[in-house]
Amino acid sequence: MRIDLHTHSTASDGTDAPAELVRKAAATGLDVVALTDHDTTRGHAEAIAAMPEGLTLVTGAELSCRLDGISMHMLAYLFDAEEPALLAERELVRDDRVPRAQGMIVKLQELGVPVTWEQVARIAGDGSVGRPHVATALVELGVVPTIDDAFTEDWLADGGRAFVEKHETDPFEAIRLIKGAGGVAVFAHPGASKRGRTVPEAAIAEMAAAGLDGIEVDHMDHDTDTRARLRGLAKELGLLVTGSSDYHGSRKTCVLGEYTTDPEVYGEITRRAFGAFPVPGAGGV
Ligand code: AMP
Ligand code: FE
Ligand code: FE
Ligand code: ZN
Repeated sequence: MRIDLHTHSTASDGTDAPAELVRKAAATGLDVVALTDHDTTRGHAEAIAAMPEGLTLVTGAELSCRLDGISMHMLAYLFDAEEPALLAERELVRDDRVPRAQGMIVKLQELGVPVTWEQVARIAGDGSVGRPHVATALVELGVVPTIDDAFTEDWLADGGRAFVEKHETDPFEAIRLIKGAGGVAVFAHPGASKRGRTVPEAAIAEMAAAGLDGIEVDHMDHDTDTRARLRGLAKELGLLVTGSSDYHGSRKTCVLGEYTTDPEVYGEITRRAFGAFPVPGAGGV
């Protein structure tokens, strides 16, 4: 069984439409794929309608959180997408992305970059707008050669010249909301230090005590030492360990199924969740 529990579609900052993503997931030999767009579930319906036979979809989202000034991501699986408290928080975070992107565009214009909201809105389409869309605009304008080059202090990195914060949820509140909606909470790429400061282990221990289910360990942003350290921490704290590609289509170099999750861990996630069931493919369009 090949299980990839973290992917993005055009519903946020990925480049494959949800239907395209599930078709590619099946074609690449995955048995289970989770769709985890940033702060939104709006890609789920299209993915479900297109599910190929032999592939199972885990519905999810990746919630933007912040602890003591450190931005972090919480993966939420198999929650009830209609549950009002989590839905309200998700919409708050997603909607704040628009004025925030516009704020970054103003800063870029002040730096002499001729980027416009119209350009970024076109790139984002109906997806929840994020820095990768702004970064794509900078590549289009020839300001930087690649998206990665836009994530520097000069441009869009945390605290960078054109960076603007967005509303982000306290992770303890996120865990409470996810569990309250019948979901499972997994801390995404907790050791991704190249993206900025990371949350200390003591805080992960507190999250574990507050109901965190697991941590993502096998991820492209973790080196071998980081994975070993996180695996040890998960064992110590009784947390599930997941692995996933964090696929973003052509916006990142990773491929679907590049890292995967142990079938036993997947089984445990499905046993713990009661907000939604995994969706087996029925051979959709
Ligand atoms: P946002 O949620 O709008 O703040 O944007 C965060 C997203 O930007 C992440 O989910 C990644 O897709 C991407 N990202 C963050 N840091 C980097 C980086 N150093 N290089 C490339 N992409 C990044
Ligand atoms: Fe992303
Ligand atoms: Fe993330
Ligand atoms: Zn992600």
